[in-house]
Amino acid sequence: MASIGFIGLGRMGQGMAGRYLDAGFDVAVWNRSKAKADVLVGRGARWANSPADAAFGADAIVTMVADDEASHDVWLGNDGAAEAAQAKTLAIECSTVSYQHALDMARELRERGLVYLDCPVTGLPQAAAEGKLTLLVGADSADLKRAEPFLTPIGSAVRHFGAIGNGTIFKLINNLMGAQQIASLAEGLAVAEQAGLNMTMVAEALATGAVASPQVIRHSKRMVARDFSGASFTSTLRRKDVLYAVSLAEKLLADVPMARAAIEAYDKAVAYAPDDDEAKMIEIVSRRKADKS
Ligand code: NAP
Repeated sequence: MASIGFIGLGRMGQGMAGRYLDAGFDVAVWNRSKAKADVLVGRGARWANSPADAAFGADAIVTMVADDEASHDVWLGNDGAAEAAQAKTLAIECSTVSYQHALDMARELRERGLVYLDCPVTGLPQAAAEGKLTLLVGADSADLKRAEPFLTPIGSAVRHFGAIGNGTIFKLINNLMGAQQIASLAEGLAVAEQAGLNMTMVAEALATGAVASPQVIRHSKRMVARDFSGASFTSTLRRKDVLYAVSLAEKLLADVPMARAAIEAYDKAVAYAPDDDEAKMIEIVSRRKADKS
């Protein structure tokens, strides 16, 4: 049976690693905080003592960590996965990283004989646990073909955007637009609340009207109810995606005012509650304007 080294067992990685166990792969897991591996080890995964140990003998290495820094650490840091991986091993980066980081990692890992694919994902932790993520791939076609058996357990759709880095470009614009929609939804709802509208009716009308994107549908009732249970995507992670998107956008466009507004909104969200669900944006914007006398 094929073997996987899986690195990063946060909200998303837990479920994704579990899918490889379900599919009968030999799975070695590593996470910076060891306790998050307990359930997976109980289900038959091997605990690896380092990213290098997870990579040792693996046919493919999958990483699902927070950001560029974490990705760099687990691939190229001390006892990083690249140290122990055998030549031609697939290096599948599912974390959302910056475009420049994806290009740099592809080059660094290719120099060490590995085959890098950028493969960020869309879908919530529940979709990760059910193998229903959408995989946004940047890779040579032949490398993607080789990787398919390792992508099938975690994704129900693969979108191949072209060369290495292109999956990441799509992921970053997608998450930038998601950030803008969530910040804009919070402001719209807050105006309606302060004006005294029936908020049940407002949430229902938004979620079924012309602006009803999946983000609006998912968050409108939660924001109105101030129900932040089942937190899935933190303000810190979203802000990171926005910053990576803006850094790319500013290299390509003369001005990106909407993107700058998203940074400002998420700077406030991170200052307010960094590790909470991003829907808490409503609590920040719903402060009433001070009365002028
Ligand atoms: P999370 O629950 O916060 O987990 C982050 C993971 O990164 C943890 O395993 C954490 O280790 C690890 N990590 C952070 N810094 C590290 C470092 N310096 N060295 C090694 N490991 C480090 O995040 P998540 O929600 O699973 O998201 C993971 C990735 O998927 C992110 O890139 C995110 O943007 C992306 N994503 C998330 C969602 C979502 O809905 N949550 C959807 C699509 C994509 P510890 O456990 O030790 O902290």
